[in-house]
Amino acid sequence: MAEPEGTAARPTVLRVSELTRSYGAQRAVDRLSFSVQAGEVLGLLGPNGAGKTTTLRSIAGVLPLQEGAIEVAGRDLAREEVEAKRRLAWVPDDPRPFEALTVAEHLEFTASLYGVGDHRDRGRELLERFELAERASALGSELSRGMRQKLAIAQAWLADPAVVLLDEPLAGLDPRGIRGARDAIRDLAAQGTAVVLSSHQLDLVEAMADRLLVLSSGRAVFSGTLEELRAARGAASLEEVFLALTDGESEAP
Ligand code: ATP
Repeated sequence: MAEPEGTAARPTVLRVSELTRSYGAQRAVDRLSFSVQAGEVLGLLGPNGAGKTTTLRSIAGVLPLQEGAIEVAGRDLAREEVEAKRRLAWVPDDPRPFEALTVAEHLEFTASLYGVGDHRDRGRELLERFELAERASALGSELSRGMRQKLAIAQAWLADPAVVLLDEPLAGLDPRGIRGARDAIRDLAAQGTAVVLSSHQLDLVEAMADRLLVLSSGRAVFSGTLEELRAARGAASLEEVFLALTDGESEAP
């Protein structure tokens, strides 16, 4: 895949090559290839069942790789699994914290897992930022959905990874949380982290993404900038272009 203009100096930190993933006879992702550069936000779009979560879970290493290759910051996920995962953070759409660990302990756990040395100040700052400071002693089992989402985002930030995967990161957040998460995504990219942002919220993707990858039935049907997408399809809103590109492909009831 050609590197976007003007970003040639930035290293590619996520490379997905010919990824294919099936569940039994059902092929969820079909020979998908793409790459993301440091500091870039890639918007991952597609109708229900297009293969977005399967792609993210494969990159995160929670789904065993069947076919294809994934490289995170130069480390091959199959051959150097621990090193690759150390450079990557994944925020699932419905994060499940440890029930018996407190919010503060989750950050300590993440810091030790990722080898983050001086994490206390940063951890406190993140809890403030995501309005969890007053819940630092709350157990994972006591958190609301939005709080679980915020904690998962804070953990991802603390790890300071090369690549962050965000699956519907704003689902469940209140308006202040949405503002905080949007700002945090921008800050992350500005400090050089590559972000893959999967969402059905087209306004979010439009505002945040440098480049788009549109999936339909497990295959890439578009990869490029929003301007390129609009130029290819005529001046239209992202919503109109999305609907045209993925016409009739949703598995939603
Ligand atoms: P959504 O927007 O609804 O979250 P998605 O783009 O994330 O959808 P996936 O969850 O990756 O799509 O699903 C892709 C395909 O794989 C769908 O046909 C789905 O039914 C199937 N699939 C996903 N997970 C499983 C599973 N655990 N077992 C069997 N099939 C699955």
